[in-house]
Amino acid sequence: MNLILFGPPGAGKGTQAKIIQDEWGLVHLSTGDILRAAVAAGTDLGRRCKTIMDRGDLVTDDIVVGIIAERLDAPDCAKGVVFDGFPRTIKQAKELDSLLARRASAIDAVIELKVDDEALVGRIAQRKLETGGTRGDDTPETLRNRLEVYRRNTAPLLDFYAGQGKLRAVDGMAPISGVASEIRQVMEGLKA
Ligand code: AMP
Repeated sequence: MNLILFGPPGAGKGTQAKIIQDEWGLVHLSTGDILRAAVAAGTDLGRRCKTIMDRGDLVTDDIVVGIIAERLDAPDCAKGVVFDGFPRTIKQAKELDSLLARRASAIDAVIELKVDDEALVGRIAQRKLETGGTRGDDTPETLRNRLEVYRRNTAPLLDFYAGQGKLRAVDGMAPISGVASEIRQVMEGLKA
């Protein structure tokens, strides 16, 4: 099974993706985590992406699609993947469909975590406290830009996936365990 967890920054995608990984054995693929690791390791890729990420802008489609293409060839991904933070543009979504089709696979569902804007600001502030501010993009100014980028480039994917009949919405304002159980129900429905 391949899932996309969809929602704005701070919606809880990473938290829920980890739960899905543990419960269902799917591989959690977060382009943000992979890029942050590249920045921390000081690789060529990391150096090219750091300033863009610190501003809260999107790195190029080619970079993230390349990362995903390479990762999907690893044997563990054959079990299925939960995508977190990817795709973020229509181009990425179309490329993902082709990458999966070439591997005789497809996206089964896109789960949207619905969260109010005001709650996002509070959650990002909380994450900053919990991580000791290790994410350079968890500042109020960058968050404003990340939300703007989300609305402009990423939110249009909701129509794209609704058109494919794959979009499912869950209440992302519920406590973590409540969101997880709603997602579980969606996934049980997919298996049935
Ligand atoms: P995230 O942890 O998913 O919020 O990602 C952190 C940052 O990494 C984003 O603000 C972007 O700069 C970059 N990034 C992560 N995923 C993507 C993507 N799919 N497309 C473009 N940029 C991305």
